[in-house]
Formats: sequence, C-alpha cells, structure tokens
Amino acid sequence: MLAGVELGGTKCICVLGTGPNDLRAQEQIATTGPIETLDKIEAVLRRWVTEHGPVAALGIASFGPLDLNKASRRYGHIISTVKSGWGETDVVGRLSDRIGGPVGFHTDVNGAALAEGRWGRARGLSNFAYVTVGTGIGVGLIVDGRPIFGINHTELGHIRVARMINDTWPGCCPFHGDCLEGLASGSAIRARIEEAAERVAANDPVWEGVAFSLGQLLHTLVLTAAPSRILMGGGVMDGQPHLFSRVRDKLRLSLNGYIEAEELRGDLLDYVSPPGLGAKAGPLGALALAHEALATR
Ligand code: ZN
Repeated sequence: MLAGVELGGTKCICVLGTGPNDLRAQEQIATTGPIETLDKIEAVLRRWVTEHGPVAALGIASFGPLDLNKASRRYGHIISTVKSGWGETDVVGRLSDRIGGPVGFHTDVNGAALAEGRWGRARGLSNFAYVTVGTGIGVGLIVDGRPIFGINHTELGHIRVARMINDTWPGCCPFHGDCLEGLASGSAIRARIEEAAERVAANDPVWEGVAFSLGQLLHTLVLTAAPSRILMGGGVMDGQPHLFSRVRDKLRLSLNGYIEAEELRGDLLDYVSPPGLGAKAGPLGALALAHEALATR
C-alpha cells in the first residue's frame, strides 16, 4: 500500500492505494497555513495506517519552488513561494515521521508528468512534457524517464518569451513581470481583463496573446528537450479547448519547418494533446512519486 499527498495552492488531496484502478481512500483538505494544513494531512495518514495497515512509501507532489537537492540542509522544503506563509516549510521532515518507508518528493507538475508516463497518455514514452495552465503555469519535463534535475528542478513556467508586436502590457508575475506565467496564466488573464479565464469567450482577443506565449513555450521545449509528446492540461486549457488548435498553429509557425521529425508533421493533434488522467493526474502524481521512492531507495 502506498500513500500520496498532492499539496496544492488551494487544496491538498491525500490518496491511498497503488494506482488509478486501485484507490482505497481519498481525502481533500483546504490549504491554509502550513502548520494547520500539515497537521491535518498528518492526521489523515495516521488514521489510514490504523485502518488499512502500514504504508510502504509516501509520495508528496507539491507546489514550489522546492529544494530537491538531497545534499542541502533544506532538502524537502518549500523555498521561496508566492503563497504567503509557506516559504521555508519543511514538508518532508514534517510528514516522513508518519511513514516507515521512503518518501518521494517533487513538484506537482513533475509528479503529474510521471503519472501520465506510468498510467496516462505518455505511457511507453521516456521523453515528454506535461504542461499545466491554471492559476500559474507549470511544466513537468521528463527526459530518459526522469524529471530534469540539475542544481534544482526546472521552472519553465517562468521563461522569458518574445512579446507580440505592440503588446506592452507589463505582465503580472511578482518576480519577472512579463515571463510566460506573467502573460498567459489564469492569473494573468484575470489581471489583464478583470475576468476569470473560464468565463472569457473563445473569440476574445486576449486568447491570441495567450496562445502566442504558450506557442513560445512549446517552441522552447521542442528545441531543448525534444519531447516525443507535449500534454497540456490545467483549468485554463480544460475550460478553453479552442486553445489547443491555436497553440498548435503558433508552434508550427514559430518553428517554421526548422526541425525535421515525423512527430512534427501534419496537424500536431497527437503531438500536442490533453493528458489522459484529467483531474486525477495531480493526486496520482503523488502516488507515482511513492512508486519511484520505493523503486530507487
Ligand atoms: Zn515569473
């Protein structure tokens, strides 16, 4: 039996089981302050061990940035974050006491990407990307079956992108202004036109800029990691499905035939597509991290 915790900006989902066809229990907790939230998660894990028996490994898929460097004294912490009160929170230290086995810890998007690779639309692929466009923008980037990791995890939601001609809106990222997330996330749309992304009509001019910026992200992904497929999910993509064809067009125009690959020919319907696990990708990502922790301990 494995346990997973998806630590999100507004809610946390705890799951018990081994995969999408074997989920024994699930509980949702509102994300408030770190002490209160982690206390409640700990209580759920403790109760599950009592009711269902020991848990072999725990996976934690969290919003970040996180310190994932195992040599660091801050390993397992959420470090700088836009979520007030959560900076410098020792998530792994706080939750690992409840579990006898290993603890897998990674970003929510890399967890979701691993879940798509294990059970979803990236099954059988060792190089792929999972992009989520919601309140923020996150990218899980899997190369040789593992999330890219160097001095720390990647943060492709905050890359600099080319601006559309005559667009001088300063963007809304508190760190970078007009980075990708500052221009194309749900938060950016709300800041720019004072409307929630899910309520904006498909023919609103704001989508042209959003698709342009997301096309730049995909251009960068193709040229850096050369993924076999790019999955796109999150609240904004789910609520505005017209974005898929627009983003595919922007990617094709931006690459301009430079890369020769079978996957990049034609309509890109398969190359840029929705994830297979839908809203379950997040909590299943935490379970995927528990599987990884067991396999690599
Ligand atoms: Zn940024």
